[in-house]
Amino acid sequence: MSLAQIHQWSKTRVQETEVDKYLINGRDFIDGCAIEQVLENACNPDRAWIRDILEKSLAIERLTLEETALLANVTDPDVLNEMADTGLKVKRKVYDNRIVFFAPLYCSNCCINGCVYCGFNSGNTVERRRTLTRPEIIEETKQVLAEGHKRMIVVFGEHPSSDVNYICNALNAIYSVHRKTPQKTATSIRRINVNAAPMCISDLQKLHREGIGTFQVFQETYHKETYRQMHPFGPKANYRWRLYALHRAMEAGVDDVGAGALLGLHDWKYEVLGLVAHAMDLERAFNIGPHTVSVPRLTPASGSSTYIDSRYLVNDKLFKRMITVIRLAIPYTGLIVTAREKPGIHMQAITLGCTQTDASSKIGVGAYAAQSEQHIDHQQFMLGDTRTLDEVIHELAKMGMITSFCTAGYRCGRTGDKIMKLLHSGTEGKFCKLNAVLTFREYLDDYASAQTRAAGEKIIEQELAQIEQMDFYNKGALRKQFNKYYSDICAGQRDVYV
Ligand code: SAM
Ligand code: SF4
Repeated sequence: MSLAQIHQWSKTRVQETEVDKYLINGRDFIDGCAIEQVLENACNPDRAWIRDILEKSLAIERLTLEETALLANVTDPDVLNEMADTGLKVKRKVYDNRIVFFAPLYCSNCCINGCVYCGFNSGNTVERRRTLTRPEIIEETKQVLAEGHKRMIVVFGEHPSSDVNYICNALNAIYSVHRKTPQKTATSIRRINVNAAPMCISDLQKLHREGIGTFQVFQETYHKETYRQMHPFGPKANYRWRLYALHRAMEAGVDDVGAGALLGLHDWKYEVLGLVAHAMDLERAFNIGPHTVSVPRLTPASGSSTYIDSRYLVNDKLFKRMITVIRLAIPYTGLIVTAREKPGIHMQAITLGCTQTDASSKIGVGAYAAQSEQHIDHQQFMLGDTRTLDEVIHELAKMGMITSFCTAGYRCGRTGDKIMKLLHSGTEGKFCKLNAVLTFREYLDDYASAQTRAAGEKIIEQELAQIEQMDFYNKGALRKQFNKYYSDICAGQRDVYV
């Protein structure tokens, strides 16, 4: 494709009518002055007031901007501890001791945008560019399956060579791969989430038809002036086009969306309020908040000095505080932490409030099949936690956590407003508990090392005992159905869920 054609394609990306329709009196939902004012006013909150806010979080009610700002401004160590304890209670109430795993798959690093912090930006001449062919995507998928994964997030730069038709083809290729595990049982990728550039509604409808799970778009920074500086050209320079990407997804029928902010571009408290404002506007417009929130921290990238130049890097201490604040502010949402983080903080983020993560990840384009080592010019950034899925599952099992590969919610139609109601009432968690046991049983039988299996059996035993005691499962035929499925899995059947 010629440069002129790429330029032409780039100009067709943003459709202003699909932004304007969501504005209220011509304004978007990020009022920068109001956010700064709220943060400034929220100082010295008294303890009783903080306790009222924590009660609200415990009732799984989303907090207001003012309440979130009050929590973000707490510095008293005792109150911070109380907040962290409540955050944990909130997490246990909605997600119990489960952690969901996914594998990232980078399909293309060609990009027309100029994001100054990303190694894929079009001006970076040292980055090796590549777009995977269908056979290459299939090869990568086989490698990911060999680790035991069932869920993927596919990642794309914004480029005509990786347009919506390419993305649909990639989903189709991945779903088409069916393999045998080392124990000769059947396996395949059961859910594919997509992290790609904002799209128009008709393109999003195509992704919906192809069986997309969550559609993720991170705003990077909600601070408009910083956004302008970080995105000097390309469709991504349009703040509002990105701000309403998840609204358009909802309208296209993709009612499972993931928001996020790239921490380190602007003040973390501002970004947290931006995320809460985003959740509020999605709730206002569609009655559905973000199913997940991601909190990637900025890392050094090829050809970029943003990391070294940043005044806003979030250190580990602040990172943990921030996770607690988000956990409390949007209690129903899944929180994603990635293997960008080094093992210690990666695990702490999970114990504090995160509910989804990745392991055994390779983020170079084609890196799973090549089994290549990390190289800054061949991937978007460097991973901090390069342990295998088995190693991470083992550590989490020793900490009392159950790994879930459940993909049932989306396949049973428990998405959108249905899942929101179920999450608020705690009912979704009850189904998840059963599906976590079923999918962890599969993993232990098919892939686990001896040490992971030993640690995992203890967790399964505890979960089965709890399930046995919980009245909820006596309703209808649920317990009977679960017991049958569990026996079926032990006998070698796969992919059964409630
Ligand atoms: N091109 C699409 C977009 O920008 O939305 C999707 C792919 S992009 C590779 C996925 C995410 O990577 C971005 O939304 C950004 O938050 C994150 N990212 C980019 N550069 C990063 C860096 N240096 N460190 C950590 N995360 C980064
Ligand atoms: Fe392209 Fe996304 Fe990287 Fe920006 S963050 S340069 S849009 S791949």
